Amino acid sequence: VEYTTDVVIIGGGGAGLAAAVSAHQNGAQIIVLEKMPRLGGNTILAGGALNAAGSPRQVAQGIEDSVEKHFTQTYEGGDELGNTDLIQTLVENAYPAVEWLESLGMNFNDEVFTVLGGLWPRAHKPSTPLGTGFIDTYQNYINANEGIEILLDTEAIELLVEDGRVVGVKAVGLSGDVIVHANNGVIMAAGGFGANTEMIEKYNQSWPSLANVKSTNHPGATGDGLAIAEAVGASLIGLEHLQLLPLGDPNTGSLSGNIEQGVENRIFVNKSGNRFVDEGARRDVMTKALLEEEDAFLWVVLDQKNYPTPETTNNFNETIEELIAQDRAFKGDTLEELAGKIGVNPDNLVKAVEEFNKVVEAGGSDEFGRTLFDTKIDTAPFYAGARVPTVHHTMGGIEINTNAEALDVNGNVIPGLYAAGEVTGGIHGSNRLGGNALADIAVYGRIAGENAAKNK
Ligand code: ADP
Repeated sequence: VEYTTDVVIIGGGGAGLAAAVSAHQNGAQIIVLEKMPRLGGNTILAGGALNAAGSPRQVAQGIEDSVEKHFTQTYEGGDELGNTDLIQTLVENAYPAVEWLESLGMNFNDEVFTVLGGLWPRAHKPSTPLGTGFIDTYQNYINANEGIEILLDTEAIELLVEDGRVVGVKAVGLSGDVIVHANNGVIMAAGGFGANTEMIEKYNQSWPSLANVKSTNHPGATGDGLAIAEAVGASLIGLEHLQLLPLGDPNTGSLSGNIEQGVENRIFVNKSGNRFVDEGARRDVMTKALLEEEDAFLWVVLDQKNYPTPETTNNFNETIEELIAQDRAFKGDTLEELAGKIGVNPDNLVKAVEEFNKVVEAGGSDEFGRTLFDTKIDTAPFYAGARVPTVHHTMGGIEINTNAEALDVNGNVIPGLYAAGEVTGGIHGSNRLGGNALADIAVYGRIAGENAAKNK
C-alpha cells in the first residue's frame, strides 16, 4: 500500500502522539506508524510524573522553585553532560506543556510531588494512573479531529531520501509493505532501547553486567529508530548512558507493585533492616548504592499516612491490601511485627525509623545527605515492599537541535527529519531526573510537530 501525507511519525508513544496533535494544530495531515498492536509505548507504563517549574500549583503549596533551578538540577543531575540549549528549551517549555495538555482536556492533581530521582517537588501527576492520561488525551483529540491516521502493527524499517531530504518511510504492516510519502517531513519518535538486551549489554559502560537485570520497558523499546536514522546519516550520541532504577519488581522488573507515594515519606532498608543511601538522591546514585547491598535487594518502608483509606492506590492503581494479598507488600501493626514478616532484624529497622524521624523533626540533612523530608514514619500500620534494580531509560540517541531537527555527524540539519522523545540524545546527560521524560516528550514532541507542519 502507498500513502501520501504531510507529516509521517514513527512511533505512537508519548512523543509521537504529542507531535501528531501539535502538527495537526499547525495545519498538517498526519500518519502515525506504530509497530505494536496498540498505542502508548513506554509512556503508558510511566509513573506519570511530569516536572514543570513555575507552576501555580507549587505556589499554592508554598514550594519554592524556578525554571533556573529546574535547569541547574537537570544539568548537574546529568553530570553536566547535557546540551545546555536543549535543557533550557526543555525547562522553559515544561509548564506551557502542562497548560497545553490541559487545553486538550487532560487533568492533573492539584498537588505536585517529588518523584523518585526527581530531586524536587515539581512533578505534576495526572489524575488517571500511569501514562494513561497522556495517551487517552491524545487519542481523544485524534478521534475528535480528522486528519490523523494511525497505522498499528506497522513497523518502520527505512527512511526514504531524495536529494538529501527525508521524504517518507518504508514500513511493513500485517499485509505487506507500506510506503508513506511525506510532503513536509518525518518525525522519529520510536523511543529508547531499554528492552533490547543486546544493545544494553553492548553500550553498557558504567554498570556491572546487566544480563540478569530485568527492565521496566514495554517489548517494543528495541531502539529501531536509532539504526533507521543512522542509515541516513544521523548522529547518535550518549548511547552509553543507561538509566537503572532501584525500584523494580523482583519478579518482573516492572514498576508495578511499588508502594512509594513520592520521595519524602519513605525509607529504603537492606536485608539487615539498615538504611544505606539518601533516598532522595539521583537514580544512578541510589541504584549504584543498592547494587552494593546484599542480593541488590531493598525494602521500601512507610506508614499508614501513605495509604489513608482502603481506596488509596499507588501509581499502578493498586491498593495496599491488594498488594498484601499477593504477598507483594507486607503489613505490621508495629515495626517489630513488620520486621518479622519481611525477615529483617527488628532492632535495626526500629532504629532506622527512629533516626529518620529525628531528622524529620529537626530538619536539615541526615547521615546519608538526605534533605527531602515531610512527615515521620510513626503511624500504624506500617508497610514494606521488596524492590530490585531494573533497566528503565536510555539517555542517548539521535542528536537534535532546539527545533527538534535531527543533526548529522557534522552538526548539519538533515532536511525533513525531526526527532523527539527517548529516541533522542543529548538532553539528560549521564542521568535523567525522574519526571523529566514526560516533560521532554511533551515539549519536544510539540516542537517537532509544529516545525514539521511548517516545513512546506
Ligand atoms: P517516547 O516516550 O519517546 O514517546 P515510547 O516508548 O513511549 O517513547 O514510544 C515509542 C513508540 O515507538 C512505541 O510505541 C514503540 O512500539 C514504537 N516503535 C518503536 N520502533 C518502531 C518502528 N520501527 N516502527 C514503528 N513504531 C515503532
